[in-house]
Amino acid sequence: MDFLETMARGIGRFRRDVFPQRRAQFEGLADAQQPKALFLTCADSRIVPSMITQTGPGELFIERNPGNIAPIYSGAAVGVSASIEYAITALKTPHVIICGHSDCGAVKGILHPDAVADMPAVARWLRYGDEARQRLAAAPSDIDEEERLRRLTELNVLVQMEHLATHPAVQQALAGGRLAIHGWVYEIETGEVRAYDPARGVFAPFPDI
Ligand SMILES: [Zn+2]
Repeated sequence: MDFLETMARGIGRFRRDVFPQRRAQFEGLADAQQPKALFLTCADSRIVPSMITQTGPGELFIERNPGNIAPIYSGAAVGVSASIEYAITALKTPHVIICGHSDCGAVKGILHPDAVADMPAVARWLRYGDEARQRLAAAPSDIDEEERLRRLTELNVLVQMEHLATHPAVQQALAGGRLAIHGWVYEIETGEVRAYDPARGVFAPFPDI
């Protein structure tokens, strides 16, 4: 079956079976949103934020791009910067989550810039991950490729958290004590989500609650 037809059937099922059961919820969301978090993650098709967090419509303001990158603030018309500014200033989201993931093509591109040289826009975008690759240089040289990617995925989340803090909207919200920034990594093959613990300096699994 053609994928467009697959989606058309899905829309039909949604309108017939799903929407009527949740009509009141959708009607309540018709005129305004008050999301609880800005969720900045990779564009990778295998990450479904509302599924892994079991949240529903209206709860997550989602920004996605290759490598879950938050560019250093420049004032330029960059989509992700506009999403950050809007979520924090207009919607007053109390949390920002930057969520990386296993087997990330963008992180592989950060590790091996030559591999993305034929995609100029991708290559330039992934320069925002250069700092993470430089920090990886401090890792032992005998770790294998898989371990290097795992560490770089975590370092990239940390670097993007730092980039986030260069945005004026974020600085104002942090100074006002109304914003918390979180770094997560999602493991595709196990479903595990690890969160950065600044006290211990490690990404640790969420407690099973
Ligand atoms: Zn990715």
